[in-house]
Amino acid sequence: MIATTDTLVRFSGVQKTYDGEHLVVKSLDLDIRKGEFLTLLGPSGSGKTTTLMMLAGFEVPTHGDIFIGDRPIKNTPPHKRDIGMVFQNYALFPHLTIEENVAFPLSVRGVPKAEVKERVRAALDMIKLGNLAGRHPGQLSGGQQQRVALARALVFNPALVLMDEPLGALDKRLREHMQLEIKRLHETMGLTVVYVTHDQGEALTMSDRIAVFNDGIVQQIDRPDALYERPVNSFVANFIGENN
Ligand code: ATP
Repeated sequence: MIATTDTLVRFSGVQKTYDGEHLVVKSLDLDIRKGEFLTLLGPSGSGKTTTLMMLAGFEVPTHGDIFIGDRPIKNTPPHKRDIGMVFQNYALFPHLTIEENVAFPLSVRGVPKAEVKERVRAALDMIKLGNLAGRHPGQLSGGQQQRVALARALVFNPALVLMDEPLGALDKRLREHMQLEIKRLHETMGLTVVYVTHDQGEALTMSDRIAVFNDGIVQQIDRPDALYERPVNSFVANFIGENN
């Protein structure tokens, strides 16, 4: 596959086998475009998280490689990939304050202290949590903690933000509120987002494009309306149609 100029990330012939025998991602070729909101959607166990983890650098492809621009990144450690991550369980450090949590990615990158303070303040203001900077994660609600996780993922202006079921632990009302918040950040900051969910409704409302996974294979990658109107096979038709 030839990358176009607006391609930020390219998966080329990527496969992932766990324990030498369990093939969970089967030959993945996928372009991620600059500025797009791409969702990996599919049933449990279809390989979405494994795909995200290979992009983040926490798992290594068994075959093939991933490129950011022209650079192959198979051997690049996670902290050198310029990628922000948000997880379902927030993964905040419980013993650090909110301010210290958000400062963490900047500190590990050696950003000078005065600049860290300024950028953390801006990131917390962006998600409207400036007034809670001195608290610890345990003193915040689930929705507030997830916003802190968002601020921490965005504070170093990464080229790419990965989100793995970030709203899975929230109730329906808060989930809908956070969907809007994430879309607002995507649009105002011009972010490139790769988002994992098994929730069809969430994927259809939030995404520019959706890659539908089943059994380690991308069945179709398309705009939400095209998936809905022109599914390429019965799996996509049934899966997209569920709960809608
Ligand atoms: P879910 O929506 O449930 O998170 P998923 O589509 O994200 O599912 P993956 O988490 O990528 O799917 O898992 C794909 C398959 O790989 C599953 O069968 C899972 O059990 C297996 N798997 C995932 N991580 C590992 C690992 N570290 N070691 C061995 N097998 C793994």
